[in-house]
Amino acid sequence: MLVAEKSSPHYTATRNPCKLCTPLGAALAFSGIEGALPLLHGSQGCATYIRRYLISHFKEPVDIASSNFSEQSAVFGGGDNLKQALANIRRQYDPALIGIATTCLSETIGEDVPGILREYAQQDGVGTLPPLVHVSTPSYQGTYREGFHAAVKALVTALAGAAAKKIRPLAQTINLLPGMLSPEDLRHLKAIVADFGLSAIMLPDYADRLDGAQWTEYRPIQPGGTPVAAIGQMGQAVATVQFGHVLALEPGAGQQLAQACGVPLASLGLPIGINATDAFLTALETISGRATPSAYRAERGRLVDAYVDGHKYVSQKRAIVFGEEDLVAGLAAFLAEIGLMPVLCATGGKSGRFREAIHTAAPDLAREDIRIEEGIDFKTVETLAAETEADILIGNSKGLHLARALQKPLVRVGFPIHDRFGGGRVRHIGYRGTLRLFDRIVNSLIAQRQNTSEVGYFYM
Ligand code: SF4
Repeated sequence: MLVAEKSSPHYTATRNPCKLCTPLGAALAFSGIEGALPLLHGSQGCATYIRRYLISHFKEPVDIASSNFSEQSAVFGGGDNLKQALANIRRQYDPALIGIATTCLSETIGEDVPGILREYAQQDGVGTLPPLVHVSTPSYQGTYREGFHAAVKALVTALAGAAAKKIRPLAQTINLLPGMLSPEDLRHLKAIVADFGLSAIMLPDYADRLDGAQWTEYRPIQPGGTPVAAIGQMGQAVATVQFGHVLALEPGAGQQLAQACGVPLASLGLPIGINATDAFLTALETISGRATPSAYRAERGRLVDAYVDGHKYVSQKRAIVFGEEDLVAGLAAFLAEIGLMPVLCATGGKSGRFREAIHTAAPDLAREDIRIEEGIDFKTVETLAAETEADILIGNSKGLHLARALQKPLVRVGFPIHDRFGGGRVRHIGYRGTLRLFDRIVNSLIAQRQNTSEVGYFYM
């Protein structure tokens, strides 16, 4: 069969998308709220697919409810299904919050979710409701990154009072909007902030819920997460710190807190690499009035030393980086720092801000040296990759087929990591996370040389 290429006007297909679906991001964000349960308004298959993806990456139980659309709901509306789902969830889980995200189907029929929720709240006998936070997440318009940040913004809009700042500022408390980092990253971030004498309201915080300790008895909802009451106090924080060069260009939760509550916003790139981590620690110095603790200066020194030692392996090498837009931008900045050229930066996202984000994150990279592609699938990445002469791929497990086709090593980062163990424990950020990532990249390049050499080198 002849397949039209993307340049053809007849091209309509996405082949192995370089993105994940929008409500997945919202479900992940809602999973980071203490006692909360995500509910997808739409078909059961969407919730099953999202559960499967989250479970295979985090290796933890993930409950995501569904309003279970039938053919009848698709034609006449799923309001009754949604109300029934809310009643079932409250009876079975007694949640502290229900996060409701829509799927492609409920969005396509134009379901009035806010109206259905109002009707449900006004029904006789429903009793005292937990907060019902709704976010619109049609997957044909966005990716998991957009769904994640839309859910965070919906939580802030619904729960953080506009007048809160004026009531009583919370001394030495900051809001931390980390983006889609790993549980290991979230734990590391909290430790860094605490070492500056600050408290953080981190939104969301799924560190314990999606990478928790062993249970001895069944719990309907895992412990951990941002308390609902803490979200209500975010308008009283002394500052908000958020990560992501694409997010910085969007009207997200950080901007919402700045405009509605007057909380100053520090919008930074993901703290991967020396420059980006320096920027994060400098922001914490400014907010806390404290100098960076000596332990971090020592970590920084070890990272610089590793860069010097590993330079001969990475210098002049070429990388294909793909995945979620903010992670790719952060990685591009880090790779530029170590002299490894990110010759192709690719994402399935279509924010229209990817190119600007990468140039902002890595201003020293010559524009003609890197190809930046958004709205792309893996099939097209494979076509473009033939021209890049790349030595290494850096991205999530969905790039496996590409790596096999190119016969190049794949360093797994971000989400999803389905084909390796410990996806939730990959650390990307801070000096320590960068050092771990640098070691993995250097060792992958060494292993590639070793495996393809006719001589059995022991020392590389
Ligand atoms: S139908 Fe839409 S919401 Fe459901 S799994 Fe597919 S992309 Fe995601």
